[in-house]
Amino acid sequence: MLWVKCASPGLRIARKLHTVNKKSNISKIFLATGGLLATGVIGCYLGYRCFKGKDNNSELSPSHFVKYEISHKQDIDSSHFLLELTPLIRQNVNMWSLMTAENLWSVEVKQPEVMVVRSYTPLPLQFNPVSKELEILKDGDNADGKLCFYIKKYENGEVARWLHQLPKDHVIEIRGPFIDYEFPHLPNESKRSRECLYTSRSNTEIPNEDEDSKFTYQPYDIMMFTAGTGIVTALQLLLTESPFRGSIKLFHTSENIQQLGPLNSILLKLQASNRVRLQVFESDKQTRNKILEDIGKAIPRPSSYKGKLPFSSISGRGFEPILALVCGPEGYISSISGRKLDLNQGPIKGLLAAKGWNFENVYKLS
Ligand SMILES: Cc1cc2nc3c(=O)[nH]c(=O)nc-3n(C[C@H](O)[C@H](O)[C@H](O)COP(=O)(O)OP(=O)(O)OC[C@H]3O[C@@H](n4cnc5c(N)ncnc54)[C@H](O)[C@@H]3O)c2cc1C
Repeated sequence: MLWVKCASPGLRIARKLHTVNKKSNISKIFLATGGLLATGVIGCYLGYRCFKGKDNNSELSPSHFVKYEISHKQDIDSSHFLLELTPLIRQNVNMWSLMTAENLWSVEVKQPEVMVVRSYTPLPLQFNPVSKELEILKDGDNADGKLCFYIKKYENGEVARWLHQLPKDHVIEIRGPFIDYEFPHLPNESKRSRECLYTSRSNTEIPNEDEDSKFTYQPYDIMMFTAGTGIVTALQLLLTESPFRGSIKLFHTSENIQQLGPLNSILLKLQASNRVRLQVFESDKQTRNKILEDIGKAIPRPSSYKGKLPFSSISGRGFEPILALVCGPEGYISSISGRKLDLNQGPIKGLLAAKGWNFENVYKLS
């Protein structure tokens, strides 16, 4: 994607926000106006910042590139690494409070030598140089604007390979946020706490939570199908400030779970805290078909959302997914949900179609 060819960035976010409205299938099912309202609020806010950007070019914005330095880089294996970027000028806007789990978002990294940009999905994590561990940011903390990424380096790839060989403290430029998927906005809904993720107690000691009773709307459940670095989409929803309120059943496929490095223990903690129902598949060429068969068997039929309900009527409800998000390489998306045609979703086929899922409740992410 040639960044010089892009439409004006101001237009681009407007267009992206417009696309988001069109692509939020879930909004069509319920709370359509809520979804539009959220888009409008974020759109106006970012638009205001784009405008304000004339005298404040240091805040992250879709309309211009902002300088960040590489503050930490950590190899996981020969093709996966973690990258932490710190803005040269601390960010006033806390993207995690602004976006919450209502928006899946990414930023674009500029590779200035070949004039291309690539999208990467930030995670609300920061590297602690003392403990040498990744820490989940707390509510209200944006770590001055630090962003953390999990990246795969392809042998012949331009940007990830270039990023990987850059030294610590090297300055690069990014712009964003770009919203890749928007969930409906639930007005005045309570936040979900992240306290259970900060405890150092062993997984077995973390109590089961039943937070549902504090919400006004029935939290809706979703399924996520991810492969490789596609897992970042699920992690963003689960780790951000005001994380996803419903249950997420996550089918994750990778060659080897060790490829996740420290993200694997974060996933296990999320599972122990009942934030995610995790099913991991380690696959190679020989086992691929068998694994797809196993995933197919585990896919439930879609449920319908009941909206604002007295909680007595939904206590003890099971897993009732109303949306399926699919994120991974082309072949994976094809097998799970039918081919994605560039910017077009393409028809819903594959394993999801076989279980009664359709264009109203499936969304394919790139
Ligand atoms: C919204 C969005 C968010 C993203 N977030 C992340 C992220 O957080 N982490 C991350 O690592 N990547 C992410 N990506 C993918 C990323 O933008 C680049 O496509 C990827 O890093 C490859 O770029 P490259 O320039 O290194 O390789 P390229 O020069 O684009 O391609 C090199 C080779 O790899 C192949 N290839 C490229 N991407 C894939 C793929 N996904 N699966 C299989 N083969 C592929 C190409 O066909 C080519 O043969 C995201 C993409 C989108 C659209």
